[in-house]
Amino acid sequence: MGMAVILTAAVLLSGCGRREPTLLRKTDTAMGTIVSQSIYVTRSGSHPESPTEAVMDAIRSLEEETLSWRLETSEIYRLNSHEETELSPELSEILQTCLKVSEKSGGAFDVTIGALARLWNMDTWAADSENVQLPGEEQVLRALPLCGYGKLLEENPSWQDAASAKLSLPAGMQLDLGAVGKGAALDEIAGLLAEREEVTGAVISVGGSILTYGEKPDRSSFKVAIVNPADTSGNIGYLELQGQWCISTSGDYERFVEVDGKRYHHILDPHTGFPSESGVSSVTILSEDGLLSDALSTACFVLGAEEGMALAQNFGAEALFVDNGGNISMTEGMEQYFHLY
Ligand code: AMP
Ligand code: MG
Repeated sequence: MGMAVILTAAVLLSGCGRREPTLLRKTDTAMGTIVSQSIYVTRSGSHPESPTEAVMDAIRSLEEETLSWRLETSEIYRLNSHEETELSPELSEILQTCLKVSEKSGGAFDVTIGALARLWNMDTWAADSENVQLPGEEQVLRALPLCGYGKLLEENPSWQDAASAKLSLPAGMQLDLGAVGKGAALDEIAGLLAEREEVTGAVISVGGSILTYGEKPDRSSFKVAIVNPADTSGNIGYLELQGQWCISTSGDYERFVEVDGKRYHHILDPHTGFPSESGVSSVTILSEDGLLSDALSTACFVLGAEEGMALAQNFGAEALFVDNGGNISMTEGMEQYFHLY
């Protein structure tokens, strides 16, 4: 009891007297992945809800109301049910950005691959890897014509330019925003933190996507580790960053299954309908924008290092690739941030 009182007094003194920020930590799950938060706060906050709770709420509502293909409550679910859907400005903006990345990547990135994604069923691989049934070539070839962002644009000719929020999917098409949900969440979280004057810095990861925000109390850099795809218990190096950034990694180690001695990962080449074989094991994108970082990481994984780097730079982002042989390559702009172990 006496000890607790002393500790509380010490925290209060450091909080109020010198305004030294305190660290809030929280690990939880949302969007089918782990969310881990470190948020530095001073004690001047006026919100009744803690920032870590607010972050979880924001991720969950983005999933439930907007992005999930599973939950009947979401806009994507309604679109996929082929009801003509009045899009929220938020989803409109997300889809517009996705289509831009599709166009500039020559279709390597494509959120209209839902029919293929359901066929491969990668979301269930982790839970039941013993009994995975992979699709045959014929099934894949039948699903391919149901996919393609070009077909979505043909069905909605004026959607891209007009302010119209109405969108309808061609017959059989399904949207899958699995490649961008975590990055989109980071943008929302960054906005939320900016509205909270008590937050002085934060590092928040939603699966393979990470937001750095503000600064640490001692002003030292944020260090974001890059996993070794060949041995995920270790890292190949880290990015050293100051201020606000989004970092997204797509890797063949994140979700995969082995069937008859062959390894299949979760990122599809929309042109073949099969897991991409570009020689990439992982790609990390650094961008000021969360949605872009996540879309580009998936796009670059499919494109491979050479074309991927050009694509990233086209969007003002930096990229770092690890190939199947463990070789690292990166855009010139990435070199100032990356440190090899
Ligand atoms: P990420 O881990 O961010 O690269 O996202 C992978 C997820 O995006 C997969 O689990 C699928 O749901 C979806 N996806 C797979 N391949 C593609 C692709 N070529 N374009 C867009 N989304 C994809
Ligand atoms: Mg991605």
